[in-house]
Amino acid sequence: MPIRLPQVVLVGRPNVGKSTLFNRIVGSRRAIVAPVPGTTRDVIQQPAVWQEVAFTLTDTGGMFGASEDPLHQLVLEHGQRALRTADLLVLVVDGREGLLSGDHAIAKTIRSLDRPALVAINKTDDRRAHAAAAEFHELGFEPTVPISAEHGTGVAELLDEIVERLKERHANDGEEGRAPEPPELGIAIVGRPNVGKSSLVNRLLREERMLVSDMPGTTRDAVDALLRWHRRVFRIVDTAGMRRPGRVARSGKVEAISVLAARRAIEQADVVVLVIDAVEGATDQDGSIAGEVERAGRGIVIAVNKWDLVKGQGADFSDTFDDKLRFQLKFLEYAPMIHLSARTGERTPKLLELIDKVAQARRTRVKTPELNRFVEEITARNPPVSPGSRHVRILYATQTAVAPPTFVFFTNVATKFHFSYERFLVNQLRERFNFVGTPIRLHVRRRSSSRRA
Ligand code: GDP
Repeated sequence: MPIRLPQVVLVGRPNVGKSTLFNRIVGSRRAIVAPVPGTTRDVIQQPAVWQEVAFTLTDTGGMFGASEDPLHQLVLEHGQRALRTADLLVLVVDGREGLLSGDHAIAKTIRSLDRPALVAINKTDDRRAHAAAAEFHELGFEPTVPISAEHGTGVAELLDEIVERLKERHANDGEEGRAPEPPELGIAIVGRPNVGKSSLVNRLLREERMLVSDMPGTTRDAVDALLRWHRRVFRIVDTAGMRRPGRVARSGKVEAISVLAARRAIEQADVVVLVIDAVEGATDQDGSIAGEVERAGRGIVIAVNKWDLVKGQGADFSDTFDDKLRFQLKFLEYAPMIHLSARTGERTPKLLELIDKVAQARRTRVKTPELNRFVEEITARNPPVSPGSRHVRILYATQTAVAPPTFVFFTNVATKFHFSYERFLVNQLRERFNFVGTPIRLHVRRRSSSRRA
């Protein structure tokens, strides 16, 4: 089976030097190239390899060249597909001309497509252009790499950045590539047998009276239920998986199997509802499931079900229960928690609200200037702490992905932050930008252009 190579796509206004860069990359001695059959005139593709990372490089040159208006050109079918399927966009700009509105327009389109991007500032072979390169940070993509496609300077650094980003992306595989506003939101309802998962799904479907269908999926086991809520469609994934553990209960392998079923559902979900039995409380098993959710980068809501059975016990009970649960599921302190009853329907509508809120948070994108104001503020109060390196400064930061929100902090030296400092940053980000119920990923990188300074 052919492996799909990651797609790197060059975009930019006409005459910024995309084709020169394209030829420079695929023609350079350190990149291995072979022609791809079936490529079109307007969009040229070639495979390339850099530092053992293979990717397909696409030049959208023809597509942009035909018109002065890049936005108009963006709708051209081939180019648009290239943009939509791109794993990484390289926005090529002209360092001599400086930042133009056409660059802003393309940047805006890139953001609307929700693709990760970096900036190649071309034609920076003279010192003046090199000095002017700073303004391109405004585009909101990092890093910005000064190059000269014609002379080849900076191209190796650019390729380093490209493969670095592809590797990062690969590490996050399966979490990205969704449309900015998903038409459907995948919800996984997971938890141990008999906590009331099926009852909860039935309740949600009944309440909304909007059951679209019980859809038999492509495989025998997959059964999803669709539910319309306000303007959204929630797909409750793998409802068959949640029933299976019940049957296995008698074989004594309950716990392991329920984690397996959960894992499958989690894969397909945007937001996971971890159901806990109010009488039984949480177990280690819930901890493992929660760990899966965190690792997979999904949003999470903790639903304490069967609250009808315990609510007579007063506020103290409620507080103690919550404290204990928070303690048991320590690393999920960011997950919103709700007490509800699938039997009586108490607070089940609120669950949908929470799910939606978490889904939104997971897709939140913080604008680079806003993010950097925030970084300045908190580093002024709490400078970075990293093991070993003394004078670590955060130069700037950028959000490179959503779902889950992923941030890169660029520093003056290659380093890692101290664990506690990293946690501090994550918590601050969470608070400031209201990242409720979603994991946050954080990377630290040395700013590339600092090596050429
Ligand atoms: P699942 O294995 O997690 O899907 O659990 P089920 O939905 O099959 O529920 C297990 C048992 O708990 C059933 O007997 C349900 O009637 C009961 N149950 C589910 N939700 C509630 C609830 O909110 N309150 C009470 N009292 N019982 C519930």
